[in-house]
Amino acid sequence: MEQPPPDTKDWTWTIQLRCPECGLEAGTIDVPGVADRLEAAAVEWVQILTQNPAADRRPSPRIWSPLEYGAHVRDAIELYDARLVMMLIEDTPTFKNWDQDEAAIVGDYARLDPDRVAEEIAGYSATLVARIRALEDSQLDRRGTRSDGAEFTVRTFLQYLLHDIVHHLWDVTGQQAEV
Ligand SMILES: [Zn+2]
Repeated sequence: MEQPPPDTKDWTWTIQLRCPECGLEAGTIDVPGVADRLEAAAVEWVQILTQNPAADRRPSPRIWSPLEYGAHVRDAIELYDARLVMMLIEDTPTFKNWDQDEAAIVGDYARLDPDRVAEEIAGYSATLVARIRALEDSQLDRRGTRSDGAEFTVRTFLQYLLHDIVHHLWDVTGQQAEV
């Protein structure tokens, strides 16, 4: 199957600025707000995957289907949770690079069961949301570095990951986030 062009954009600007595509202004959302919005976004993902009979259909040959986006979101949530744990237990860890386009091919996203992916999104996001809600203020300035050198605190990392998940909802639905 033909693959979409790789996404090499650096999205760290979305921590500072409102995203003109999905409409989210992640940098203005506090940590409890991130947890609430992430929880709501996961519910939307589950609905998209379980209620759309054409979830596995690509809108055009080079654009991922909702199922492929959903599988990417599932893996991203799992990875973000693992990185959050690293930031909490290690001093300024560096995250390994994740090749998301490779992951889509190796993980055979296009042929997964949408109901199963929905269940996995619900499970991983519940774990991550619970971990975010358990954070103490003293942990929010702990740091982590991406393999490309981008630096995050726990706070900006959470804002960044929320944008990622919400932006992919926009990729699939075309609807902007509520401000
Ligand atoms: Zn966006």
